[in-house]
Amino acid sequence: MLEIIGFEGTTVIVDGPSREFCSTHYSSLITLSCYTGRVNALDDYHALHPTSPFGRGPFFVKQGMLGYREGDRAVELLLRKADLGGRCLLDATGTAGAVAFFCRGSFERTTVLETSQASLRCAARTFVGDPKVSIRAGTLWDLPAGQSEVVCVLPSTDKGSLRVQVELASVCRALARGGEAFLVMHKDQGAKRYQKAVEALFDDVEVLAKEGGWRLLRARACSFDTGIDPWLPFTVDGLPFQSLPGVFSAGKLDPGSALLWQVARGIPTLGTRVLDLGCGYGFLAVRVALEGALVTALDDDLAAVCSTQRSAKLNRVHLEVRHSDVDAALGTEELFDAVVMNPPFHLGKKVRLELPQAFIAAAEKHLRPGGELLLVANRALPYERILDSWSSMELAADTPAFKVLRAVK
Ligand code: SAM
Repeated sequence: MLEIIGFEGTTVIVDGPSREFCSTHYSSLITLSCYTGRVNALDDYHALHPTSPFGRGPFFVKQGMLGYREGDRAVELLLRKADLGGRCLLDATGTAGAVAFFCRGSFERTTVLETSQASLRCAARTFVGDPKVSIRAGTLWDLPAGQSEVVCVLPSTDKGSLRVQVELASVCRALARGGEAFLVMHKDQGAKRYQKAVEALFDDVEVLAKEGGWRLLRARACSFDTGIDPWLPFTVDGLPFQSLPGVFSAGKLDPGSALLWQVARGIPTLGTRVLDLGCGYGFLAVRVALEGALVTALDDDLAAVCSTQRSAKLNRVHLEVRHSDVDAALGTEELFDAVVMNPPFHLGKKVRLELPQAFIAAAEKHLRPGGELLLVANRALPYERILDSWSSMELAADTPAFKVLRAVK
């Protein structure tokens, strides 16, 4: 049994071996009995699960991916109302290829574009052996100009308006003459405002449907072909960083990560092997590497990976940066003296504890015996219980909002 702190207005979902689903709004401490403990949290986390949305399958999903779940209103609306047709489809919906899956066979060529490594793995399994579908790790702003015929997008409204603006401009630039983009957004996530942005960019915009707060737009090709520079330059503690839009805490230092750095700055000595799990734009990885540590930085989000690579270059430090769903890009033999992390506990707008749990399990797997984990978290999150079985665990620092836990393997 695990106690979970719910935050007012958020949805808490608990995935345990019992796969019980709990979705409700909380305003106080609650105890959920649906968590029965894990035999191997990491194996559970990395497992791919075949599903059969609307009786069609297998469509693979896994923990940690945003992706598609049956009943996803945005995807359903798009499929019902968009009248998709043409030769080439670009599914950039961030759903591990849900649109491509339901349109299978209708297009000569389909590309599933994803930034999340977790989703890429699922899509690769769903479409394995399908010569008409290619799976690509990439961002909308890397698409070549004027070559896409039919593009489906659920703009990343959970990643901030700068990210959405760059995505919209990128889609506009990517469309071929006569091409069409289909975009779905929710009114609670700024659909009305973003519709204005779409109308300002594209020549011909039509609202195809409005249902349950969702808005489906069709936007036709335009003459917008100027270059897009998505990079956001900024400094933290006098050090230069650059981030792509939508990366965690882009443009500033997160107060939790600042607290973690206060503790972590004591660790690195020349040659210490440090793993930064969930590196974001690379603040912790760069700082630790500047102290002489050998740093490996991992992130599931391709935009974060590119940002960390650029931040390392700007600070003239060498980092081993990998696009990785938790520790998927690490070999079992790769061990570290220390692991630092500010683990994510949201997927989109939902609070999910499967991710921090997998992060901590990965730290345990990849620390050498006696190695140290430094973890920063919102004070309310109950990670002490997961760390209980480690050799030792202490509160290394705290503020009214955050705490840093130090645990020794
Ligand atoms: N360490 C960075 C910092 O302090 O600024 C970022 C911390 S942010 C709270 C958590 C990071 O974990 C994000 O960059 C997010 O993209 C990454 N992340 C989310 N899910 C992940 C996963 N499955 N595997 C690896 N990284 C993930």
